[in-house]
Amino acid sequence: MESRIERKSLRKRCARNATPFEIIAESRITYPMSEPNTAAPPGIEVRTYFVRGRNALVARADFGELYVDYYLHQGQHGYQHEPKFDAMLKEALAALTLHCASRPWNESWAWTIHFADPLLNLFVTGDNRRGMIVGQLFTENVKADDRGRFLAEMVRERGEPRRSVVEFEGAEVFPAVERFYAQSEQRPARYFRHGPEDFVMVSAQPQCDVAWLESLDDTAIRTLDEQEELSLLEKRQYRWECGCSQERMLALLGSMMRNDPEGLFGEEEVLRISCPRCGARHVVTREALEAYVSAA
Ligand SMILES: [Zn+2]
Repeated sequence: MESRIERKSLRKRCARNATPFEIIAESRITYPMSEPNTAAPPGIEVRTYFVRGRNALVARADFGELYVDYYLHQGQHGYQHEPKFDAMLKEALAALTLHCASRPWNESWAWTIHFADPLLNLFVTGDNRRGMIVGQLFTENVKADDRGRFLAEMVRERGEPRRSVVEFEGAEVFPAVERFYAQSEQRPARYFRHGPEDFVMVSAQPQCDVAWLESLDDTAIRTLDEQEELSLLEKRQYRWECGCSQERMLALLGSMMRNDPEGLFGEEEVLRISCPRCGARHVVTREALEAYVSAA
């Protein structure tokens, strides 16, 4: 795995237990070492439907259970977000999951959504094959931009990675994602809140009735199955899971340890690092890293 580690800021930030390194975006989407986990517990169910005569795809799920796991993760790692930002991250997790469910099985996606005001970066990533969804938000060390920027990255098995950047206005997640669809995917998509944790996404397919799609509102979504002919396409499971572990953190830090152990640890015996995907706090001791490097 390629990684870019900012050495100078590493020790300074370690003291504050903040994220001490960045890994390049592509490797943040998928951890290449992880294998599909066939024994993974089931997660939330996302259903996709085709709307006949309108040529649109509907994806819908209740995110209650995934949000519970997200909060358990926060509790376990002892951090908490400001409620306003927390709500935005939850919307981004829902939007990405519905997007992933509307895409082929062999794709993994990552979105970095930069908001200028409030100054905030949301990072969410999803892996269709493994049914994993995870994300976190950053309010510190965020480079200020004069406008919103939506960076989408996709990795397809045995394919070239794809990357696009779209600018947007405002401070809301769903309009930002809709903008990404219009600009980058070149087809419209709409997001709706069906219940407190129940979201619906409708995206255009070839020969879509775009006027119909654009006319949809909350009322129309509530009665969609009565008004339209929906055929179930797929049911997929997704759960909150990163896949990061002590082992993976050792692997990330291994090459630095070989090249510059003093730069890494200095006087310290312990490094505290945050997973760049989910924010999980990991503690790596000098002893453990030395053992890992000498065994490799
Ligand atoms: Zn993680």
